Formats: sequence, structure tokens, C-alpha cells
Amino acid sequence: MKRLVEGIKRFQTEVFPAKAALFADLATGQTPRALFITCGDSRVEPTLITQANPGELFTLKNVGNIVPPYGSMVGGVSAGIEYAVEALQVKHIIICGHSDCGAMKAVLHPESVAGMPTIGEWLRQADAARRVALDNYPDLREDEKLDVLTQENVLAQLDNLKTHPSVASGIARGTLNLYGWVYVIHSGAVIGFDAEQGRFIPLDETHIPTATPRVRGRALVQAD
Ligand SMILES: [Zn+2]
Repeated sequence: MKRLVEGIKRFQTEVFPAKAALFADLATGQTPRALFITCGDSRVEPTLITQANPGELFTLKNVGNIVPPYGSMVGGVSAGIEYAVEALQVKHIIICGHSDCGAMKAVLHPESVAGMPTIGEWLRQADAARRVALDNYPDLREDEKLDVLTQENVLAQLDNLKTHPSVASGIARGTLNLYGWVYVIHSGAVIGFDAEQGRFIPLDETHIPTATPRVRGRALVQAD
């Protein structure tokens, strides 16, 4: 604790004065650019990875970067999504998994969390990703299986995200963009899902891969 409180002191005496104008600006409101949904893992720091300033990312962290499908569970994730999209009108939603994820290891080996019923129940929301990984990549090594599951889980949670009415509406209108990322802890790399290529590719500012489904045309057909 001493280390944390010393950190607060250093923040107040060194960091805060250096960004006084920014904090004055933020004192009365926020207009974040993006909703960032990622794992609770202490090694995943969205503002560090993206070098974003305070006020730029609305962040939701939970075990396994899970997004419950709309209506299945009223909780912090669903409320956070609704607030970010409806009230803050974010234009971008990122779901970011990461390497060496304890939650994904538990999804591969449910017996490892047998004594933790809440986690077991929560991680059932990664069952679709688990089946995709186990059924379609049976010959992979354990570490490769974990990587595949981590990527498939990001895609499965993006699918769940689209069941939220505010998100579905924003996508249909073309005002909301979705991104699926995986952060690699040992190298600092971030890969992103490219819906056009159907695979994860390294992120590059000249080509930012998006996971947003194509905006569809009007479905209304004139009947005679
Ligand atoms: Zn994790």
C-alpha cells in the first residue's frame, strides 16, 4: 500500500501539474473516443498500450473480456456498453484479448476452476469460442490452442456485442465501428481482426483492420 500511496503523491506533485490544462478540461465532462473492453488481468493497461490520455478511452475490464449477449444478464458490462454508446456516443468499440490469459486457460481446462463456481459460470460465455477452438484445431500444441482460443473468444464476444440494440443500431447506421484485438505481452505487439481477410493481422496505422460487418442497404422491399 505504501508504494501506491507514494504513487498518488508523485502523481499530484509531478504528473498532474504537467497536464494541468488537460485535467481542467476533463473536470466537467468526458468525450472518449472509444469503448475499450478488455481482461481484468493486471498486465493489460489500455492507456499504456495505446498511449491514450485520460478521457480518451471508456474502459470496461472483466475476467476474460467477456460481453454477455443482450438480455442474458443485467450487469456492469451491459450497462457500460449502453452508456458508452447512447450517452457518450463513442464511435469505436474495441474488444481486446491478450496472451497468457488465465481466463482462457480456465476455459480450456474447466477443472482448474472447479472450486470457483462464479468464474466457472461466467466463463461459460466463452463456450462457443471453446468449441470452435477444440473442434477445428485438434492437432495444435497447448500454447497454440490457447492462442487460437484467445482469438476466437474475441470474435465470439464481438458477436455478442452486436446483440446489444444500441450497438446493432449504430452499426446499421454506419456510425459505430468494431475492432477485435489481441495484445501479446512478451513482445508488446497488438494484432487486429480484419473482417475483409477473415484473420488477425499486425496493427498498422496505414491500414486499421476493422471487424465491423458491412453496412447493409435498406431491407424494405416495395410490395405491389
Ligand atoms: Zn486475461
